[in-house]
Amino acid sequence: MEKITSSLEVSAKKSLGQNFLVDQNIIRKIIQAINPQAGEYIVEIGPGQGALTEHLLAAGAHVIALEKDTRMVEPLQKLSAKYDNRLRVVLGDALEQDLTQLSDQPLKLVGNLPYNVGTQMVFNALKLGSHIKGMTFMLQKEVVQRITANPQNNHWGRLAVWCDLYTQRQKLFDVPPTAFHPRPKVTSAIVSLTPRADKKHQVDDTKLERVLNKSFTQRRKMLRASLKGTLSIEQIESIGIQATQRPETLTTEEFCKLAHLL
Ligand code: SAM
Repeated sequence: MEKITSSLEVSAKKSLGQNFLVDQNIIRKIIQAINPQAGEYIVEIGPGQGALTEHLLAAGAHVIALEKDTRMVEPLQKLSAKYDNRLRVVLGDALEQDLTQLSDQPLKLVGNLPYNVGTQMVFNALKLGSHIKGMTFMLQKEVVQRITANPQNNHWGRLAVWCDLYTQRQKLFDVPPTAFHPRPKVTSAIVSLTPRADKKHQVDDTKLERVLNKSFTQRRKMLRASLKGTLSIEQIESIGIQATQRPETLTTEEFCKLAHLL
């Protein structure tokens, strides 16, 4: 990989979750996980001062960078000029962007994301279908645990069920606070989400949302209590689930079966 020495020109704003990557070994590992290819289109959420962006460009990719902080435009424009204008900077809130309008090419979605943007971004991206080839995100480690959890685990919940329904999930590695400037208080982790060609199980999403919200709002409660008024004990047990089970014991398929009963 080409050696790139980055320097930080802009001070960090806490309100925008700005913790800039400065550890070149970690940056290299993240780039290997993204595996950028010449000619492909990559959307980077929150490029900041370009710690990851420059490596994506150096690999020959086209990068569409969605950034909220106007102070980043200048350093990013300089980068674009250095790499044949293959970097397009879109200023604004990434959560309000319709990603399908950015390019008609299939996109890779990547980013070192602030916590609140991260979970919402994952939810938004899940349903974009074949427009998204793959996603590689850095998030708070606890959020990655909630994305990659399986049943019988404390972290298994709405986020994991939706991600499992739409993608193949893989936690790649942890990133310590020392990799950033300024250092965050928490450990981060890299997660890869590869969209499935078809949803893992056929289900009406609105119904599934209802079942998941009811089930996990009070996750200590048994299904017969949390689904009271929505599904009867007889209905729950008609598909081989015990009404005394707690939501964290159910698989994605079982939640989909419950949704079918609505
Ligand atoms: N990618 C850079 C790096 O790794 O050094 C910066 C990562 S920093 C954790 C997160 C970046 O996301 C910041 O540049 C911040 O300004 C940007 N950001 C925060 N909220 C955003 C939003 N809603 N839409 C787009 N960018 C956002």
